Amino acid sequence: MEREVDLKEISDGRLYGINDMVKAGCNDCAGCSLCCEGMGNSIILDPYDIFMLEKGCGLSFEELLAEKLELNVVDYIIQPNLKMQGQGERCGFLNEKGRCSIHPYRPGFCRMFPLGRIYEDKGFRYFLQIHECPFPGKTKVKLKRWLDIPEIGRYERYVCDWHFFLKDMQKIIRDTENEEITRNLNLYLLNQFYVQAYEISGADGKEADFYGQFYRRLEEAVKRAALYA
Ligand code: SF4
Ligand code: SF4
Repeated sequence: MEREVDLKEISDGRLYGINDMVKAGCNDCAGCSLCCEGMGNSIILDPYDIFMLEKGCGLSFEELLAEKLELNVVDYIIQPNLKMQGQGERCGFLNEKGRCSIHPYRPGFCRMFPLGRIYEDKGFRYFLQIHECPFPGKTKVKLKRWLDIPEIGRYERYVCDWHFFLKDMQKIIRDTENEEITRNLNLYLLNQFYVQAYEISGADGKEADFYGQFYRRLEEAVKRAALYA
């Protein structure tokens, strides 16, 4: 989700890379679940998040959508987000003890919090949002360890490619005044990157590679989108 904010007001003024130490440690969130509640539609899920949720929960995208996720139009594109539920507007994955029930395969935004990403020159860096997590006396942690995502180099490359692909799709939709193109392109993207199930294990029984699947889909989508541009 694009935000028009002054980084000086919301961050400590620094930009971080994966090997930097950042003051984000919050004692394993003991007794707190604040950032899992009342988040509206802001916890947007990307294709890697869906791959991890399908694998971890053993559910299809439609099954996830039936209870835990919802769809919203964000910056012109239909995208899934974690659904806040009930009176407390709590994430459906938060258990009765106030802990994340899908911790090992929680989405990228949850892993990153309270950090955000700022994109520049076909890349991105991280920034620390200083008003988001109220835990006092935060400790320094290595960003790579904080995110705890395997093959972090491939992951960061993918995050970038996905971000800039979405920017291109937003431009096509923003520039067209044709509602049919807007609808068709959106439905295509939804199906191509989310509804079509990802392969979870390969023929050899080993874990299937997400990135190979994603880039095959991306290549097809770039060709398809060229028809609309
Ligand atoms: S607000 Fe901070 S301490 Fe509370 S759950 Fe989120 S990250 Fe953890
Ligand atoms: S998926 Fe887990 S960490 Fe993320 S908002 Fe839900 S309960 Fe919190």
